[in-house]
This record gives sequence, structure tokens and C-alpha cells, in this order.
Amino acid sequence: MTGERLRLMAVHAHPDDESSKGAATTAMYAAHGVDVLVVTCTGGERGDVLNPRYGTVEGGLDGMRAVRVEEMAQAAKALGVRQHWLGFVDSGLPEGDPLPPLPDGCFALQPLEVASAPLVELVREFRPHVVTTYDPSGGYPHPDHIMCHRVAYEAYHAAGDAERYRDRGEPWAPLKLYYNHGFSLARMRAMHEAIVAAGHESPFGDWIDSRQAREIPERTATTFVPCADFFEQRDAALRAHATQIDPDGFFFAIPREIELAQWPTEEFELADSRVPTTVPEDDLFAGIRGTGAA
Ligand SMILES: [Zn+2]
Repeated sequence: MTGERLRLMAVHAHPDDESSKGAATTAMYAAHGVDVLVVTCTGGERGDVLNPRYGTVEGGLDGMRAVRVEEMAQAAKALGVRQHWLGFVDSGLPEGDPLPPLPDGCFALQPLEVASAPLVELVREFRPHVVTTYDPSGGYPHPDHIMCHRVAYEAYHAAGDAERYRDRGEPWAPLKLYYNHGFSLARMRAMHEAIVAAGHESPFGDWIDSRQAREIPERTATTFVPCADFFEQRDAALRAHATQIDPDGFFFAIPREIELAQWPTEEFELADSRVPTTVPEDDLFAGIRGTGAA
């Protein structure tokens, strides 16, 4: 162990994703002295206003971007983390049958190397020991989430290779790559059952049914990070995204005492490791901390 400060990079598609996926984990590591950098691939310009109390945002994509920059700054402050914009434009969630084409110039239409180059550069500059992102499905089928996975996967594997992205800084190979798995069916079922058992009305029955109907294959969580002491910070970060989060909606529907008792962890899937480790783990830095790897 050289005593070098540990560094965690959490790569997300839109502003607000860092607050709904692995947020308490980042707040916990930041509070414990880890240098945590949230990377946001797009400006969230094509997000709809999802909070019925918010009103409207004027000014098109630029107007929405400006609002979300403010929201993101508040969320990063709530989590105690640093944040970096990768600078791509939100692709929007295509709806309809047939699906409309994606808008010109958006993140999901970029060639992989073009979209990955700024992230490779940032990995080489920040030198994270651990990188988190989404699984290959994106976690849910938003084109920016799938692209976020592809870009983070590419950067994780290419940043250490001096022959690739040659004009983008000195090579650095992160030691572990994880996928976020906060919305597992197992978690939502446990919450649903506990909420019903406590005599409350659960909003998750329909969610569970539709998830089962879509037959999304469940991926396996390997890493269960205890972070319940940081759920309040996570909630504050979510509320900071005022255009995106309905304070009476889905995210706040779980009574906090039930969540603390039933599910005091956030889950991740270890996708790659360059250090020896044994799953299940309870620490993203297992195999790195105190081993001389950092
Ligand atoms: Zn998103």
C-alpha cells in the first residue's frame, strides 16, 4: 500500500442517473476520503419535465441544458462528489411504432471511437482505480444508456493501451469495472412485499408485472455495498434534479424505515478485474485496498 488516495469514476448517461443508480455508494466513498468523479456523457437536453409541479422549460435544447447544469451542480454537492460533462447531446428516448430515427449528431449516433476518446482522455487524467457504468443492455433500453455502456467499456479496456487513442494522454489501466444493478427484480419484490406487509399501498406491483412480462434477463449482482447511512444524501441529490424527479413519485414511494431494514445496500456486478478478488464482495475496492495495487 503506497497510501495513494483511492479514486472512483462513475460513468452515467444523463444528469440524474448518478442520483438514481449507485448514488449512496458514491456519497459513502466520498465521505470516506475516496476521490469520486461522476462523468455525465450528455447534457440531458431531450429529457421531458417529469415533475408535474415544475412547469415548463423554455429555450429548447439549450434551455433544458442550462437548467440541468444547475440541477447537476446541486446534486453533486449533495453527494459530495466532483462531476465532469463529457459534452455529448442527449439522444432522447424514441417512442412510437415504428420508432422514429435518432436525431442528427446525438450521442448514440457517434462512432464508438469518437464518443470514447474524451472518456479515454479523462480516465488517463483522473486515473481511477474503479470504474462503474451500466450493463450491455443499458439497464433499460434508452439509446444513451446503451451507448454509455459501450463508451465506458471501451475506455476501461483501451485507456491502458499505449497503442490506442495515442494523442489522448499517458496510458492508465483502471483495476476494476462494475455495472450498476440498483433496480433488480429481487430488490423491487422485497420492497413491494415489505410495503404491503406494513399495511401501506405499494406502487411497485405494476412495475414488477411489466418487468416480468418483458422477460428482461436478470443479471447477477456480485457486490453489495452497505451504504444506508447515505440514503438521505441520495434522496437530496435526486430532489436536486427538480425537472426530472416527481417528489410524490416512484423514487420516494418506499418508506425509508422499510428501505433501511430491508435493503441497506446498493448492488453492482463485477464485470472485469485486474486484481485478485473473491465474490461476493462488499467493497468496490476489494483486492485493491491495502494490497499495494493502489
Ligand atoms: Zn438516463
